[in-house]
Formats: sequence, C-alpha cells, structure tokens
Amino acid sequence: MNIGLFGGSFDPPHLGHLLLAEQACETLALDKLIFIPAYHSPFKSSDQATSIETRCELTQLAINDNPRFELSIFEAERKETSFTIDTLRHFKSEYPSDTLYLMVGADAFAAFKDWKEPDEIVKLAKLAIALRPDSPQDISGLPYAEHTTILAMPLIDISSTDIRQRVKEGRSILYHVPWQVKTFIDYMGLYK
Ligand code: ATP
Repeated sequence: MNIGLFGGSFDPPHLGHLLLAEQACETLALDKLIFIPAYHSPFKSSDQATSIETRCELTQLAINDNPRFELSIFEAERKETSFTIDTLRHFKSEYPSDTLYLMVGADAFAAFKDWKEPDEIVKLAKLAIALRPDSPQDISGLPYAEHTTILAMPLIDISSTDIRQRVKEGRSILYHVPWQVKTFIDYMGLYK
C-alpha cells in the first residue's frame, strides 16, 4: 500500500489541508492518508490555547466524509513534543512493507535540514511538498530536494492563524473550513 502521513497543529484544520490531502491521494495513488495532530510542534510556541483533544476532534470532523482519510492519535497520546522521526519510526513498524509518504508544506520544508534526523526521515519516507502562496515556489535548490515530489495543487492562501484571527475579530470563516468544523468552533466558542 501507499500510505500518506500528514502531521500538523490542525488548529483548526482548513480547506488548504484538505485540498493538499486530496491532491496527495491522487498524485501519489495513496490508499490512505493519516492526519496526525501534533501534541506540540518543535517549531511552534508552546502557548497553544487549543487542547490536543479539541484539535483531534476538529480534525476528525474535517475528514469524516472521506473514506481514505484517517485520524491518528499517536502524537496526541504521547503528550510530548512531536518529532517527525519518532512518528515515522512508529508508522514504519506498523506498516513495514508499505511505502510511506510524508506531507510537508513548502514553508516547513524550507527548514527541513534543521529537523531532528533528516537523513533518517528520508530513508523511511518520501517527501510530498505542497506549495503555499508565501512559501518558496522553487524548492529545487534546497537541501533534500532530491527526495521530494511536488503536489500540483492550486495555491491556497488559507492558514489556521488567519482563521483564528478572523474568529477573534468576528469575521466570517465560512468556506475556509468545512461546515462541520465551523459549527464546532461556533458551538464551543473557540478562538474568541
Ligand atoms: P498556523 O497558521 O497555525 O501556523 P497552518 O495553517 O500552517 O497553521 P498546520 O496545521 O501548521 O497549519 O499545517 C500542517 C501542514 O500543512 C504544514 O506542513 C503546512 O505547511 C501545510 N499547510 C497548511 N496550510 C496549507 C495551505 N493553505 N496550502 C498548502 N499547505 C498547507
């Protein structure tokens, strides 16, 4: 099988994430794509207000209608900073004879050489890169570019940061997130 692994804060998950995931399924012929909310990302400040339980719930709501998408609570349950190499080793032991693909936004890939054990990561998984409007558009000169496939998808200028800001300011997030996610955010009063 071809299995995609997609880590992120998902605070909240949005249409940029889902479009990336669907494009990955098509481009890489994935049998399944596993969303893995990070308990705490090494590259983000630790004052994340949204609990891991809530981010897992939001992610489940976002992916419910797609049979190829799955949620993993592997990083959530470990309750420590989530390093990709540790997560990859776990999934390699779960799926020893399958091909693993790791989804990475080009913004995140720009710092890939600073991740923990990048040489080991590229031994365990192939990298699938999604371009973002504010990320480098040509990654071919970056370290480890030879291990990547670019996901040809429309550039989507949606970020969780912008969505949180919109909610805080009382602006609309309709069509930025799936309606199930919007309903949950409204109901729980998140990001106010
Ligand atoms: P934040 O604004 O809080 O930093 P984010 O919108 O970047 O969040 P994450 O959950 O951190 O969302 O993203 C997980 C992964 O998805 C990262 O690799 C990121 O680059 C990628 N990603 C997020 N939004 C998009 C988008 N609009 N287009 C392409 N890739 C995206």
